[in-house]
Amino acid sequence: MLIDTHCHTNLYLNLDEILEEAKAVGLGKILCVGMSAMSQERVIQISNDYDMIYPALGVHPEEIKMNPKIDQQLNDILNYIRESKDKICAIGEIGLDYHFIKEQSLYPLQKNIFSEMLSLAQELNLPVNLHTKGAEKEIFETLPSYKIPNVNIHWYSGPENILNEGIDRGYYFSITPAIRYSPPVKKVVSKVESDHLLLESDGPVKYSGQIGTPAMTRQVLNEISKIKKIPEEELEDQIEINTKKIFTKMF
Ligand SMILES: [Zn+2]
Repeated sequence: MLIDTHCHTNLYLNLDEILEEAKAVGLGKILCVGMSAMSQERVIQISNDYDMIYPALGVHPEEIKMNPKIDQQLNDILNYIRESKDKICAIGEIGLDYHFIKEQSLYPLQKNIFSEMLSLAQELNLPVNLHTKGAEKEIFETLPSYKIPNVNIHWYSGPENILNEGIDRGYYFSITPAIRYSPPVKKVVSKVESDHLLLESDGPVKYSGQIGTPAMTRQVLNEISKIKKIPEEELEDQIEINTKKIFTKMF
């Protein structure tokens, strides 16, 4: 079974079609990650509506730029996540972003939200789904201060020495459809052992102009199989085992 461990499933307008297409390629489960203040309830709602969708809640680091009210809304969001603790499988998508967000004046708020989210993951004993773009060093310095059961680094594209540190610490790395063309993503696949790889679409993010979908995890698996020289079926079973280890509540 294929599992998409990072998808903004709440953003598709044609969700039924997207899920049918995913089932047709052997995908059985999707972790739908929260992003905006508004998305939190929607993520829970679609996970109630669809058996194959599992919820993760959290505030995306780019939300500080999109939503000027996020600071005032934070307490309500934290409380909503606490109330939803029995349903959710992870805290995510959370993190820091110094690549798409260049305004340094926003960084203190971004860091504050991130540390609140990490404290919550520790409090609720949930794994985290992390966005690290341009902020890999700082995030890796911060993580050891928290007792978090497992870490999933989503779409890693940072420096190799930090990647090595993540491998040593036993973090899991989820691979997007960008594997087709992105040298940093190929690098992650070649360096991380197959027992710490996961699949993701990050849909509906676009890849070479094409909207990302959970069904694309089939192509991602195929590309990983070529790089790792491991037969696709064997790799699919291994990645399912990995997903069970990190996101236990999805099973
Ligand atoms: Zn994402």
